[in-house]
Amino acid sequence: MSPVFRFAPSPNGYLHLGHAYSALLNAEFARRLGGRFLVRIEDIDVTRCKPELVDAALEDLAWLGLQWEGPVLRQSAHFQRYRAVAVDLEAKGLLYPCFCTRGDLAKLAGEYPARDPDGAPLYPGICRHLEPGERARRIAAGVPHALRLDRAKAVKEVEARPAASSAALSWDEVSGERLEITVRLEADPLRWGDVVIVRKECPTSYHLSVVLDDALQGVTHVVRGTDLYEATTIHRLLQTLLDLPAPVYHHHELVKDDAGRKLAKSAASKPLRELRAEGVSAADIRKRFGFS
Ligand code: GLU
Repeated sequence: MSPVFRFAPSPNGYLHLGHAYSALLNAEFARRLGGRFLVRIEDIDVTRCKPELVDAALEDLAWLGLQWEGPVLRQSAHFQRYRAVAVDLEAKGLLYPCFCTRGDLAKLAGEYPARDPDGAPLYPGICRHLEPGERARRIAAGVPHALRLDRAKAVKEVEARPAASSAALSWDEVSGERLEITVRLEADPLRWGDVVIVRKECPTSYHLSVVLDDALQGVTHVVRGTDLYEATTIHRLLQTLLDLPAPVYHHHELVKDDAGRKLAKSAASKPLRELRAEGVSAADIRKRFGFS
């Protein structure tokens, strides 16, 4: 079976050098290992991922000289599929509705200083303790809600599985020229609170869609930045709960700017198209990262 790689940007802005590196690295590994290279557009946030940004992302990737196997999966076209899985998880009692507003969460953050690995306040589980009657009343009244993973229940369920070995919540982190050096890393769900699996304003979340699509597309090697390293714990938990295959992972270094700072997506990192307009060529960018 040939390895399958993917580059999966969320086009809520123009692609920058950090994206270019990740995409080129995935394509390079696919070439070295005789594998396939796919592009997936993670545009579940339909208010921020504008169609012109999606087109621009694909155009920038083509400009970099990348070729991918089509068709490109656009997550915004797959909401029903994600919803069906969430309904199923909810029916199994693994998700619960959370009615907390942004304001509530901000207040709670003051009272409960614990943070998740992303630095966000750890949700203390307020809505997990709601009386079933109260829950039903709020749902009937149309109070907007997200669905959160009952993390303790989820971990218990995974551990109780007859087939579950101690390896169920770990993953193989691979590296080296041909991604062959393997370290087994332990997923640590305790560090995450009850993560949101279905957002209030959209029928899925990054975590749910990413694991479903990696499985749907037969992705064997997930190559992405170290900023998503901690998320792999949630992904392994969901993959195990949903009986999805476990890909191997390689979390690459993030590209730094000239001052050595990380190119945060939200920071003013220059879009590839601006570099292009300034006369930078795709060959210059490939060379900068050591790709021929
Ligand atoms: N769409 C995610 C992002 O742009 C990356 C998803 C992934 O590689 O798992 O940050």
